[in-house]
Amino acid sequence: MTTDILHSLSKTQREAVSYTDSHLLILAGAGSGKTRVLTHKVAWLITERITKPEYITAVTFTNKAAGEMRSRINALVNNRQASKQIRVSTFHSFGLQFLFRNSISAQKMLGLREGFAVFDRDDSRSLMKEVLDEMPTPSDEKSPAEMLEIISKDYVMWSPNSRTRFIDEDDRLDKEWAADVADEYRSRLRKLNVVDFDDLMILPMMMMEQSNDLRKKEQELIRWLLVDEYQDVNHAQALMLRRYLVGPNTIINAVGDPDQSIYGWRGADITVILNFTHEYPNAQTIRLEQNYRSTKMILSGANTLIRHNLQRLEKNLFTANDTGDKITTVITADDYQEADYLAREIGRLRDVKAYRYSDIAILYRQNSMSRLLEKTFLRENIPCRIIRGVSFYDRMEVKDVLAIMKLALNPRDTVSIERAARIKTLLEGMGAKTLESWSDFLASQPAGTLDNPLHFWESVAMGEWRPSTKKARESMQKFAAHMCELLELADDGIRGVVDYVIGTMGYAGHLHQLDPESYADRIDNVLELKSIVPDGDLREALAEAALFTDADTSEDDADSVGLMTLHASKGLEFPVVFMIGMEQDLFPRIPAELMAYLGGRDSRIYDAEAEENRRKAEEELEEERRLCYVGMTRAEERLYMTAAKMRNLYGGVVQHEPSIFLDEIPDSVKKTDDRSARASFYDRNRRGGNYGGYGYNRRNRLW
Ligand code: ATP
Ligand code: MG
Repeated sequence: MTTDILHSLSKTQREAVSYTDSHLLILAGAGSGKTRVLTHKVAWLITERITKPEYITAVTFTNKAAGEMRSRINALVNNRQASKQIRVSTFHSFGLQFLFRNSISAQKMLGLREGFAVFDRDDSRSLMKEVLDEMPTPSDEKSPAEMLEIISKDYVMWSPNSRTRFIDEDDRLDKEWAADVADEYRSRLRKLNVVDFDDLMILPMMMMEQSNDLRKKEQELIRWLLVDEYQDVNHAQALMLRRYLVGPNTIINAVGDPDQSIYGWRGADITVILNFTHEYPNAQTIRLEQNYRSTKMILSGANTLIRHNLQRLEKNLFTANDTGDKITTVITADDYQEADYLAREIGRLRDVKAYRYSDIAILYRQNSMSRLLEKTFLRENIPCRIIRGVSFYDRMEVKDVLAIMKLALNPRDTVSIERAARIKTLLEGMGAKTLESWSDFLASQPAGTLDNPLHFWESVAMGEWRPSTKKARESMQKFAAHMCELLELADDGIRGVVDYVIGTMGYAGHLHQLDPESYADRIDNVLELKSIVPDGDLREALAEAALFTDADTSEDDADSVGLMTLHASKGLEFPVVFMIGMEQDLFPRIPAELMAYLGGRDSRIYDAEAEENRRKAEEELEEERRLCYVGMTRAEERLYMTAAKMRNLYGGVVQHEPSIFLDEIPDSVKKTDDRSARASFYDRNRRGGNYGGYGYNRRNRLW
């Protein structure tokens, strides 16, 4: 059995799997089998009886990766029961499970009542908007999204003995005001009995800080802790691991590649992985140097590119795979030609090279770039699916249905009631004033009433709430009766609940009225909830649902081209990869105010501020280059990189030079196909005197 698990591994991989003496860091390049080592290690620990499945916790980056890890382990150990007991999750779902496991303590220590819900980013934004409306900024205007980002950065720097309170923020932010906003936002979350994503990390730490028993109990459960993608761990996550989860009997195995650290902008800290052996004394380091994923051409291109980064550990990554074709770089006149090129090349790859659509992925720097591709592929009958890695489940119809279910369980949820109030078939006459009266009504409820949602909704169904209009009252009574039904159905899991919302509550009718054309798709999306939200306790299922991303839901068996951002592609692999939009200003994308500091410097003049900005600019450039390295190393057999000289972006047409990253890939591994001499769509339109719509651009004014 053991040999079975170990025999498909290289010698060094085997060493990493069977090493049990101390903490272990596996520092290795892309495609070298890091994730594979983790999966095999879990299986090996179980079959060798080194530990019991319930003592193993594995942390990965997405729910999908977690699911995949589970199924691979299952295939290796062939024991469904055992693989069910292993805890495999993301950091966030780990935090959520912790709060569920310790709900009594959570109530005592934090006032978090049973049945609490999780706000996703959209919900958080709505709540922040409410706060900002009441607490106007004394200086620069900040949008809810910006403000959330600012307070989040501050919050995740939480540590037991100190608070940063915005010390790192720039001078344009009024720090006292920001601290007040942050406090108000958090206190409203608590009042609503909800947590946000950051809470899922920070609250468990606060609880374990308060109670040694809790900490010990948790550590006893975690004898083996395996962490994938460790290069993207942020301060809070590192603290969670080191101070709270790794106990005296815990062994931590972390795997990562510093060259693939791409979440600096979200607080990931590359020094965390570089300091691993300081944080965990006696830790062993193992390096894997063979790449099993890509052809020699692709790997050599990626290796040469990443060597332009100065802040890195030199690695020697080689492959025994085929030489393969050269990397194809394509320059087109504009994004229309780029999209047409992709459509034609994909057709050719299928017809001539026998690739399937699902062998192919298209990667881009920002989400908005998928639109033209979708349009073109629709016209050309190329099936495609968009995979979102970081932005959370945000389809309108799915959010609507989730909001209705959340409301049933948590009548305090004023964000969800606002959402429901926009669905006219559900609730009528709920304007701003009436919503306010609803909030007042909630506030006037005797303590404890809202903790029993069924009783509460029953009383509303009987007409307990008396808003000023009859319409609002009657409609709310009907809605409350539905809520009672939902709660009854919820005992049997989510399936019946979804059907009830779509059917009896008339949500399907609402969707049809809204837009008959998209109706069928939207209903499908809602029905999908039945399969992705795990059955069982509805409350826990809904909380988990907030953590799902589109990347988690994409069906692997559907034969379609995958479209995703470079960020969402990490950890994945595809036979064919297209990286589009390889253009200066777009990729690398560096804030305009820093751009000027890159490049030549006048060494005769020393200017501390300029020096600091230059350092920041170079850091940004290196992170962009790592992102490019991540993209390139997703490809197994064929890699295309395309640049368009003109592109519709930010609501206007911009003109770009090809990216310096293309120059950094030597000609010995790439061939260039320059098609940009052809007339551009935009030129043609200009000649015809049609300027319509193309006026504005951010940096390179075109016309
Ligand atoms: P990334 O840095 O992109 O996350 P990784 O280091 O986690 O990559 P894996 O995804 O584990 O790499 O492995 C890359 C590919 O190589 C996978 O398809 C994996 O199955 C394969 N592979 C890894 N090790 C071996 C091996 N010893 N023999 C055959 N195939 C292997
Ligand atoms: Mg991996």
